[in-house]
Amino acid sequence: MSVSHLSDFLRPLVLSGPSGVGKSTLLKRLFAEFPDKFGFSVSHTTRSPRPGEQDGVQYHFVTREKFLDLLQENAFIEHAEFSGNFYGTSFQTVKEVHERGRRCILDIEAQGVRQIKATDLNPIYCFISPPSLTVLRERLRGRGTETEASIQKRLATALKEIQFAKEPNVHDLIIVNDDLDRAYQLFKRIALGENVVGDTLPPLDD
Ligand code: ADP
Ligand code: 5GP
Repeated sequence: MSVSHLSDFLRPLVLSGPSGVGKSTLLKRLFAEFPDKFGFSVSHTTRSPRPGEQDGVQYHFVTREKFLDLLQENAFIEHAEFSGNFYGTSFQTVKEVHERGRRCILDIEAQGVRQIKATDLNPIYCFISPPSLTVLRERLRGRGTETEASIQKRLATALKEIQFAKEPNVHDLIIVNDDLDRAYQLFKRIALGENVVGDTLPPLDD
């Protein structure tokens, strides 16, 4: 699927960042403020829905068998195993968002980012960083959706995500989600296609 001719506003936006950093929170606010401008790339996943999550809204919740069938049919632009579950972005999902004339926003982890870089999707890559690892741990626990084992897995993966983000030229922009209102204002301007200067990645060595 070639979308490299799209204007900056319609170029897909790839959001990544460690689990618990606040990606869904920022996205929820954006979709609430601009119900007609953006389209969320609803991924397929084999993980179970959290309370309040609806099939077809946050994710397409599928069995492992169904996911592997789709994988075999080459349905995914990218896919990854994260914390014991599969996640993938289907060509169909991204195509549908484009056909509705909306900017497509993907929320994916680092392996997916690497795979997208090998396609011609030509998105803008935006990394959401926590202000510190201590804050990240607190948020992941505070969300109350994970078991302690799942939290530990996600934190170990978070360190890898952060290592990846420290490599040069991986992301076009960084947003430090410290104060939510400040981070949201920056995120909103990026999503609307404005030319902005992003934040600097904190040391994240605590
Ligand atoms: P992600 O989608 O990146 O996994 P969430 O959006 O679910 O993360 O956020 C994780 C937790 O952190 C949630 O409980 C959310 O309410 C909280 N949170 C998000 N952003 C902030 C912020 N800037 N300050 C304090 N808490 C936040
Ligand atoms: P969660 O289980 O917290 O919703 O998501 C776990 C991680 O999977 C997050 O980092 C999220 O960005 C990532 N993720 C969600 N959907 C996809 C996808 O389609 N592909 C990839 N590679 N990662 C995804």
